[in-house]
Amino acid sequence: MGDTIFHRIMRREIPADIVYEDEDVIAFRDIAPQAPVHVLFVPKVDVATVNDLQPAQAAIVGRLALAAAAYAKREGFAERGYRLVVNCNGDGGQTVYQLHMHLLAGAPLGHFGTP
Ligand code: 5GP
Repeated sequence: MGDTIFHRIMRREIPADIVYEDEDVIAFRDIAPQAPVHVLFVPKVDVATVNDLQPAQAAIVGRLALAAAAYAKREGFAERGYRLVVNCNGDGGQTVYQLHMHLLAGAPLGHFGTP
C-alpha cells in the first residue's frame, strides 16, 4: 500500500473528519476547504494520478463520482449543485499523489481555469 497522507488517513494513523466509507471508497473533509463544503473522495486501491489509471480500473472513477453524488443527495445540495475536480500532476495542482476527487459545494462557485 502507498504511503501518502491519504493512505495514513485510510489506515487511521492520522485523524480526519470521515463523512463516508464503503469497501472501495473513503471520503473526508479537506483540511483547507476552498468552499463551504469541500470533501475528498479517495479510492482504496493505489493509483497515484489519473495518468496511472489502467483500463481495467475505469470503474474506480465511476465509484468516486457515484459516492460524491450520493453524498450530495444525502446532504441536500445535489439540486443546487456542486463541482467535482480531479487534479493531475504539477500544472493541475496535484499535491497528494493518491487519486482523489474533490467535491466543492455550498456556494455559487463561478467559472475557473485562470491560473
Ligand atoms: P490536490 O491538491 O492533490 O488535488 O488535493 C489535495 C488536498 O488534500 C488539498 O486540498 C489539501 O488541502 C488536502 N489535504 C492535505 N493534507 C491533508 C490532511 O492531512 N488532511 C485532510 N483532510 N486533507 C488534507
